Amino acid sequence: MPEFIGAIDQGTTSSRFLIFDKSGEVIASHQLEFNQYYPAAGWVEHDPNEILSSVHNAVEKTVEIFKSKGYKVEDIKAIGITNQRETIVAWDRVTGKPLCKAIVWNDTRTKQVVHALANSHPKKDINCIRDICGLPLTTYFSGVKLRWMLENVAEFKTAQEEGRLMVGNIDSWLIYNLTGGAKGGIHVTDVTNASRTMLMDIRKLEWSDELCDFFGIAAGALPKIVSSSEVYGNVSHGILKGVPIAGCLGDQQAATVGQKCFSPGEAKNTYGTGCFMIFNTGHKLTFSDNGLLSTVAYQLGPNSKPVYGLEGSIAVAGSAIKWLRDNMGLIKEASDIGKYASEVDSTGGVYFVTAFSGLFAPYWRDDARGCIIGLTQFANRSHICRATLEAICFQTRAILEAMNADSKTDLSLLKVDGGVTNSDVCMQLQADILGIEVVRPANVETTALGAAFAAGLAVGVWKDIDDIIATNADSQTVFKPSVDANSRDSRYAGWNEAINRSYGWA
Ligand code: ADP
Repeated sequence: MPEFIGAIDQGTTSSRFLIFDKSGEVIASHQLEFNQYYPAAGWVEHDPNEILSSVHNAVEKTVEIFKSKGYKVEDIKAIGITNQRETIVAWDRVTGKPLCKAIVWNDTRTKQVVHALANSHPKKDINCIRDICGLPLTTYFSGVKLRWMLENVAEFKTAQEEGRLMVGNIDSWLIYNLTGGAKGGIHVTDVTNASRTMLMDIRKLEWSDELCDFFGIAAGALPKIVSSSEVYGNVSHGILKGVPIAGCLGDQQAATVGQKCFSPGEAKNTYGTGCFMIFNTGHKLTFSDNGLLSTVAYQLGPNSKPVYGLEGSIAVAGSAIKWLRDNMGLIKEASDIGKYASEVDSTGGVYFVTAFSGLFAPYWRDDARGCIIGLTQFANRSHICRATLEAICFQTRAILEAMNADSKTDLSLLKVDGGVTNSDVCMQLQADILGIEVVRPANVETTALGAAFAAGLAVGVWKDIDDIIATNADSQTVFKPSVDANSRDSRYAGWNEAINRSYGWA
């Protein structure tokens, strides 16, 4: 009997539904973009209802393709969910309707909230609650976004006072709606998503009363924290009615599982809208001395021990490529960037610090803004394209150095995935700038695959982690460093100089 697993991949710019077979092969998939709202400089919003319809339509279309290939819906044994993290939705318990638009992870409107909260704490420091939740106080995480809603959205405040408030990241919003919404929908979040809210005690894996008080959020509005792999409930309606929802991971943690980084010391880097590296630290919770986040990498079952990770997050990666396309008109399609970048063999001394929403790890500077520096009359589109790709690669190097320092081991290869890794030029630049091998799997849909693995594990499609590791070892492309250490290091020194110039603009 063939067995299949579905995965909803709800990303920052698009929603996808994919159906995998037991070997991890994609059998059918469909992807739909949805609207981005930028109501003010630094603000980024999504409409929670548009997210739901994009997911619904992606599911319908994928299942249609699946059926047209002669397969049966009954053979989809479970679905998993993976999602853009930190983005937060608030809705009304009675009506099930959103109280305002979702505030997206890279939105920086909470800059003042962050400073006020840090000042209200006796430690007066952005690391004041790091020991409880593993995270620095920045605009990035959900807790400060909820605080902003409390201070600025009247309906949110009233709903909280009247006990009607429900909040959750996109995983919670999807599971709630897929299982019935206001008519009995389940309100849960998986532990990896919860670890990005700033409200969870990262040791106990429970909501922290102290943090709920600090942000002013009622614990009763929060979802129940569950493991990343167990049956949460069944789909209540539509083409997948009755199918168990059995896996859930934030997108970067899902990619960690999809890349099979199951051993301590393994790391993956995903290059999408932003860029995110996760380093598996095993059952040991590790705190960084170098600007990295402590996060839950996965917990594969309610009775399994959690596996922790150190994470380096870059806010702007593929979105800089989109910016060249949509705002500057320098390229027509994302894939053009590699073509132009390869027309020159250097950036001609140009650096592009893509600090559109400040700088995340390991710099954590919300006062930084983007700059292009080193321009001469000689510089042209190709140099700017190459400098854009290098910006992604230099920031990855800064994170890798932080990881090496924190873990006291030097990573010897980097597993990569995500949309930008389609660019061979970018991956070669990455190997050159890091000085280690960069390994790209044939199937770069590792995020969705990770969610499928988690769901399949819960319903017995895969027996255990070894069974998952044994799934088709895809063919891989290996990019090897091709420049010497001197050239690598002097370019990186130039980058660090450019980074210094980006500080203090906002
Ligand atoms: P997300 O899940 O964050 O929406 P994806 O993993 O789908 O992101 O990656 C999308 C990003 O990949 C886009 O920002 C796009 O600019 C970039 N991208 C897609 N194809 C290419 C390519 N051939 N070369 C470089 N970048 C690309």
